[in-house]
Amino acid sequence: MTLDHRLLSLLVCPVCKGPLELVRDAEARPLELQCPADRLAYPVRDGIPVMLESEARSLADAPAGGAAAGSWTSAS
Ligand SMILES: [Zn+2]
Repeated sequence: MTLDHRLLSLLVCPVCKGPLELVRDAEARPLELQCPADRLAYPVRDGIPVMLESEARSLADAPAGGAAAGSWTSAS
């Protein structure tokens, strides 16, 4: 049982309460948690997920699972 699994089992999207998808960086560390339904990505800072809608990044123009290479967009 990994920390990642614990994270995913405990965390849900604060907006829609749906499941989140973990995205890793190039070193396989947790990078952010994405909500496909809301197209939001919550950052993981020092291994701690920041589950705040105000901190979330928009995924509107990013392909699913490709957040690491996606562009940061300003909130509309
Ligand atoms: Zn959501």
